[in-house]
Amino acid sequence: ASDIAEQTVVITGAGSGIGRATARRFAREGATVAVTDIDVEGGEETVRLVEDEEGGTAAFYELDVRDYDAVESVLQSVAADHGGIDVLFNNAGINQFSLLEETSLEERDAMLDVNVNGVWNGSRAVLPLMRENGGGSIINISSVYGYLGYPTETTYCLTKGAVLNFTRALATEVGPEGIRVNAVAPGFIDTDMPMQFVEQQDDPEAVIAETEEMHALRRWGQPEEVANAVLFLASEESSFITGEYIAVAGGYDVM
Ligand code: NAD
Repeated sequence: ASDIAEQTVVITGAGSGIGRATARRFAREGATVAVTDIDVEGGEETVRLVEDEEGGTAAFYELDVRDYDAVESVLQSVAADHGGIDVLFNNAGINQFSLLEETSLEERDAMLDVNVNGVWNGSRAVLPLMRENGGGSIINISSVYGYLGYPTETTYCLTKGAVLNFTRALATEVGPEGIRVNAVAPGFIDTDMPMQFVEQQDDPEAVIAETEEMHALRRWGQPEEVANAVLFLASEESSFITGEYIAVAGGYDVM
């Protein structure tokens, strides 16, 4: 068994897409997975998939990452229930896809609240628990839009760029304590999120073809391909990597 088998992993936004695929991937390695999401139905379905399809161990905790006190209390419960926390994947995120002047103040705040405050909340609240554990690995979700631009992604870009530099800064703060902090930066991944964008367009088929062309590999990625990078950043295989991001983007960012 790998070191992952000994780990307790907390994943936010694990009721769908990348978070769900990551829960399944860690479970397959024998980790104990705390599945958290604001969406109870989705979260419970992920636990069912982990147990029935992967033969793994998971528990669901309802959690809105915007609520600091709730984040702190769920992380404490997970640590008490499973003997500590080794890995936190701050994955929950939203995207509203609109030009800056068509984005309302409410939409701005919603994206900042989930994508930025959610990452801040999880990271801050997990530190004392990881310290108690003698170290740990925090993995934050960014995006290629953390360092590249695209029309209608302006506010999303603001939030994902913030996550990248937060990752670097926090890595410098907690490195001396054996806590590593890294990020993943996906390109277009086949989940509900980009499909919402595609469905808003006049010719969805054409938009899919166009966005496939933006990747060197000429396709979108699968959520499992992001999960593999998260697994690497959680494992001993990446023991000297901190403050970095891994693009899982099929070459989107080298085109
Ligand atoms: P998704 O919509 O399938 O999953 C997002 C999950 O986050 C959902 O289960 C949702 O309920 C949950 N969530 C939303 N708000 C929440 C909150 N306040 N508290 C807790 N959970 C909340 O989309 P996905 O593609 O799997 O997205 C996961 C992450 O990946 C996001 O941060 C997204 O920005 C990032 N990302 C996705 C892509 C892509 O192309 N799919 C690309 C780059 C980055």
